[in-house]
Amino acid sequence: MTKFDPASRIQDYLVFGEFGDVNPSITDSSTYTFTSAEKMEELFDHEIEGCFLYSRHWNPTNKYLAQALARMEDCESAQVAASGMAAITSTILQLCKTGDEIISSHTIYGGTYAFFKNFLPRLGIKVHFVDLTNLDEAKKVVSGRTKVIYCETMSNPLLEIADIPSISAFAKEHGIKVVVDNTFSPMILSPIRLGADVVVHSMTKFINGTSDCVAGCVCATDEFVHELTDITEGASMLLGAVLDSTRAASILKNLHSLHLRMKQHSANADFLAEGFRSLGLKVHYPGLEDHPQHELLRSMMNPGYGFGGMLALDVGDADTANALMTKMQDRKVGYLAVSLGYFKTLFSAPGHSTSSEIPAEERLEIGLSEGLVRFSVGLDNDMTHSYERIKECMRELSIIS
Ligand SMILES: *Cc1c(COP(=O)(O)O)cnc(C)c1O
Repeated sequence: MTKFDPASRIQDYLVFGEFGDVNPSITDSSTYTFTSAEKMEELFDHEIEGCFLYSRHWNPTNKYLAQALARMEDCESAQVAASGMAAITSTILQLCKTGDEIISSHTIYGGTYAFFKNFLPRLGIKVHFVDLTNLDEAKKVVSGRTKVIYCETMSNPLLEIADIPSISAFAKEHGIKVVVDNTFSPMILSPIRLGADVVVHSMTKFINGTSDCVAGCVCATDEFVHELTDITEGASMLLGAVLDSTRAASILKNLHSLHLRMKQHSANADFLAEGFRSLGLKVHYPGLEDHPQHELLRSMMNPGYGFGGMLALDVGDADTANALMTKMQDRKVGYLAVSLGYFKTLFSAPGHSTSSEIPAEERLEIGLSEGLVRFSVGLDNDMTHSYERIKECMRELSIIS
């Protein structure tokens, strides 16, 4: 496959404000005037380039952000939403109706898992959770009712890597759409180039990068984005989780530094992962050669952005994990907080927080230990210094000697 550089695609995307402003003007309106009633009627019928109706449908600022995201994911079109969950739920509800089925990886974000497990059955949509690193599992449950295969590029929190080309080839054979959550690996992976049909992101995380808002996006074909935003039938239009234009404007500005941030997040996470492993600790990081999908990730990734900013460290039991996190916060390593992609390091115990929607016995089955600490490694300029502080905390808790 030819090399692809998402950052250059965004770099070439220039949009100006009304007065040549280097940042495009922010839409400050919910509704738009028309020169004639006929023109308005026409817009209800089909989209007209450069023409807007009502800001829940589309507004210029959200369109600018969506166009930049489509460039990043190398696809035709995108839609922005008020949260990652809004992007995920509207995508799924656009693709599935009562009686349909979904095959999902069993290691997915807790909120998505809860939506699949607890909410979709109310609409008569059944989800099969399988270990998607083994496609035979998908073969056992696939049927004429299957409409979607769902996975995350890097799964939360064990950082398993999805084999997107194989999953997509399998899905195509059966006429099924592949939806991939790329929240953990923007720039690093381009799932649509690898065969996926739809990419969703929680922009709350790396893409925005400043933990000051909640937002999401759907990247796909023109056709699918038109379906989502269809005035009378589109899930994104009718469920109404529209992104506010002032937020869209600030996310667009942050998107322009995403490539630099991803490189630094990756470099710092790689440094910590190597360090933890040299101490004999159990660490999950896809950049480590002994990670089960290290070679797979290498074969799929865009060069130059590293292996991502997320790592998981297993310190044995919940008490030790909790004590370590509290100490690290006291020593200013970062914050004990859920979420990820922030400029400071964030750590949480997934078993008790972000993956707590997953029942205890299933957590055990997927290898989600009680002593797991998930790190979203920050943009620290001096990672050696942070690493020394973490080691101090570990010595005091006898995690290392
Ligand atoms: C946070 C997250 C979501 C949900 O996004 P929100 O913006 O919080 O709605 C979905 N998937 C993954 C992988 C996430 O980390």
